[in-house]
Amino acid sequence: MTDQIPTDDLPFPHRHLLGTQNLSRDDIQRILDLSEGYVDHNRQRGNRRLDLAGRTQINLFFENSTRTLTSFELAGKRLGADVINMNTEVSSTKKGETLIDTAMTLNAMHPDILVVRHPASGAVALLSQKVDCAVVNAGDGKHEHPTQALLDALTIRRRLHRLEGLKIAICGDVAHSRVARSNIHLLNTMGARVRVIAPPTLLPTGIAQLGVETYTDMRAGLEDVDVVMMLRLQRERMTGSFLPSVREYYHFYGLDHEKLAFAKDDALIMHPGPMNRGVEIDTDVADDIHRSVIREQVEMGVAVRMAVLELLTPKYGNGAPV
Ligand code: ASP
Repeated sequence: MTDQIPTDDLPFPHRHLLGTQNLSRDDIQRILDLSEGYVDHNRQRGNRRLDLAGRTQINLFFENSTRTLTSFELAGKRLGADVINMNTEVSSTKKGETLIDTAMTLNAMHPDILVVRHPASGAVALLSQKVDCAVVNAGDGKHEHPTQALLDALTIRRRLHRLEGLKIAICGDVAHSRVARSNIHLLNTMGARVRVIAPPTLLPTGIAQLGVETYTDMRAGLEDVDVVMMLRLQRERMTGSFLPSVREYYHFYGLDHEKLAFAKDDALIMHPGPMNRGVEIDTDVADDIHRSVIREQVEMGVAVRMAVLELLTPKYGNGAPV
């Protein structure tokens, strides 16, 4: 069954989706517009389509994931693709096979699309140069997580009807966050005004060159913003001591109603998940039914990934390098 999703047959000008940095305003708008149709489609029963029937999608995750892996799996299946999840815990990578050997092995099976998550920044781009199919970056180290930024943009656009001119604060562990980086590039391209708020130890060097305003004080940074995007403390990526204590971090940087009061009255609350309640976000704020769009983000994730998978399959892809 194929219902009408507004789309076009123009080639998408990228072979892979490795980040948001190289996406133009038109590319982003096109992905978001196509995703809109899938949001409505996904809310219906019997929502399987045939757009990717006969195509093979391999999800190759070298890092743990709950929502991203499930979301990509659902997205592929809802478009009719054959979806295979490669569990690296039981695959040959545990026997010492290198990333490139794994990529070459999978390439020999002629998949149409590889969705890859890896703990090393740049690993997914490297892999994309070795295979013949489209590659989607599902998160590489602290570098990029493009589909997260796209689903965040879709969530904001549906709620606030635009991205241009909005004041958006990205708060917390910016230094270790691929979500922050992908959002900064995308939101800047779309004309939003991005602020980052973090303790000095969790701000990456060179952050000012990314075209954001930097704050180390939550109250000052949240003043009058339209969107508050919280980040998880990525302790698994921290080598050494970045914080005096989690308690102190929550006191200064955890989002509670008192700090949120500095943002606009109807400011949206976002978090990419998984959340650490009581660390970067207060439970009442996370569950605020009027302002928290955290669950909506998860829903938008499936729609955005369907749009990305569809645009990158050969029907659309023109083989041009990113
Ligand atoms: N799920 C997001 C990521 O994979 C955010 C996080 O883990 O904190 O980057």
